[in-house]
Amino acid sequence: MPTIPAPASRLSLSHLAPAAVQSEIRAMTTECDRIGGINLAQGVCDTPVPAPVQEAAIQAIHDGYNIYTRLDGIARLRNAIAAKQQSDYGLTYDPETEVLVASGATGGLHAAAMALLNPGDEVLVFEPFYGYHVSTLQSLRMKPILVSLAEPDYALDINALRAALTQKTRAILLNTPTNPSGKVFTRAELESIAAIVLEHDLFLITDEIYEYFVYDGASHISPATLPGMRERTIVISGFSKTFSVTGWRLGYVTADAKWMGVIAYFHDLTYVCAPSAFQHGAAAGLEQLPPSFYRQLAADHQSKRARILSALTDAGLTPTTPAGAYYVLADVTRLPGKNAAEKARHLLAVTGVAAVAGSAFFRPGHGENLLRFCFAKKDHDLDEACALLRRL
Ligand code: PLP
Repeated sequence: MPTIPAPASRLSLSHLAPAAVQSEIRAMTTECDRIGGINLAQGVCDTPVPAPVQEAAIQAIHDGYNIYTRLDGIARLRNAIAAKQQSDYGLTYDPETEVLVASGATGGLHAAAMALLNPGDEVLVFEPFYGYHVSTLQSLRMKPILVSLAEPDYALDINALRAALTQKTRAILLNTPTNPSGKVFTRAELESIAAIVLEHDLFLITDEIYEYFVYDGASHISPATLPGMRERTIVISGFSKTFSVTGWRLGYVTADAKWMGVIAYFHDLTYVCAPSAFQHGAAAGLEQLPPSFYRQLAADHQSKRARILSALTDAGLTPTTPAGAYYVLADVTRLPGKNAAEKARHLLAVTGVAAVAGSAFFRPGHGENLLRFCFAKKDHDLDEACALLRRL
């Protein structure tokens, strides 16, 4: 009998698998934990959760709110989000049809991209970028097209934005205030972006998760408020940063009803609903915390910003002053190491302070002279990290 060769196995990883590498941020966190250092790498604000938020979530568990919610979230929270968008920005959204409570801003972006974009569609993303934005689009087989914002102030180059447009461009993804640069887009910049969005009939997807982290008296401008933009802007934000609940996985999307039904459908498909009891916590926060809470949040972080800027300057790691969010990019050219990842490991080894390689936020070969430091830490930990950095 002739032997029949065994068929070659068809088991294999997907085409996307080679891109599935551990992020530099998680890698530095692991390194930092291993040596018991202070982690300024991950954007985890470990400041206290506001009391009403915490108590309402615990009460909700006791009261039995532990089962699936409506796919777009509990009415109480949808109403509170709609009221917040109205009072903060004058944006009107119907809580029945235009608000989605999402599993974090991350879940919101994923659902919005699935609902509105197709494989191969190009999305303009500003560089330096937040890694999840680029990776989320790539994981859905969309093409992020990077548009550089140049150091030191990361001002918008409108010609670079125009030059990046092609027939395949479907959307611009904008993060303001920005992770990692701390840039806050000015009204003039937002107006020129809006003009391009309108002219080329694009979606604008905004990540406004740092909306309350703006300094020196500046205020956040929600791009959907610009003339003609509300119907084509998908606003994404969340509670991770504002209420220091990154592990609760709670965010939201507000958008015109034309888009929201399908965004909510895809969110349901992946997450079913946002965590039930935590939705009650966030609703209580929005309902009960006074405007002074948000002012204090910015004031506290402005003071943390001053401390890290001074320590980095003293350490000879030249920082760029962020206008918003809670990260500082510092020039670490003087540290040994052939790239930013090596410089970050050197810094951790000699000071015990973890930061993220700037290269995590740029196309390959860029950001190698930068490290990102997160300053949303408890005062005691931040002061200790500053003292350690000064010894450099
Ligand atoms: N968007 C930006 C720009 C961020 O920096 C982060 C966290 O670092 C997130 C979204 C994550 O938000 P969430 O925890 O709501 O998914």
